Amino acid sequence: MRTEYPDFRLGSVLATSFTGTLSERCGDPIERIPTPQRFIDWLAEYGLNVETCTTDQYNRARELREAIHAAATAAANGEPLPAHAVLSINKFSAAGKAAAFLTREGRRQWKLGSASRVDDALGVIAADAISILAGERDGKLALCASPSCQAAFFDTSQSRSRRWCDMGTCGNKEKKARFIANRRKKTRAGE
Ligand SMILES: [Zn+2]
Repeated sequence: MRTEYPDFRLGSVLATSFTGTLSERCGDPIERIPTPQRFIDWLAEYGLNVETCTTDQYNRARELREAIHAAATAAANGEPLPAHAVLSINKFSAAGKAAAFLTREGRRQWKLGSASRVDDALGVIAADAISILAGERDGKLALCASPSCQAAFFDTSQSRSRRWCDMGTCGNKEKKARFIANRRKKTRAGE
């Protein structure tokens, strides 16, 4: 029997998409990479192809995820970055040996070369987190307005006024809640 796993929420920013693999963090958390194989599948969505992932590597992946989450949340709140998170992100960035390759179509591809390809993939994710946290990229870290979510996301909208980590899920939920509240108000007004 095939087990149904929660869908991925694939954002355009690698590092915050990774922290989003654990969603509804302030409500009933949903683990979107509950097994090493699901983590392998998630990596493949971003062109980071690994064949195997040991339990140790999988645990390391979740350690990096939480470090990025802690640092991104602090940055979004304008607080100093937690020292343990910075240490952890740097450790993963240093351990990875991935190389960027340019395709003839002008696209970037990652070649994961060393014996531990998962660690190379984690290095790519850590480096992506560093570029966001260091303010090198056009955008701003913000927290999702959904109270049960509060995920950190990278807002690249021109007005920097994006409110939700994901329009299709958190944004829709909020819209629906507002619609129902308005309808109730109207019904009551008509009584
Ligand atoms: Zn959200």
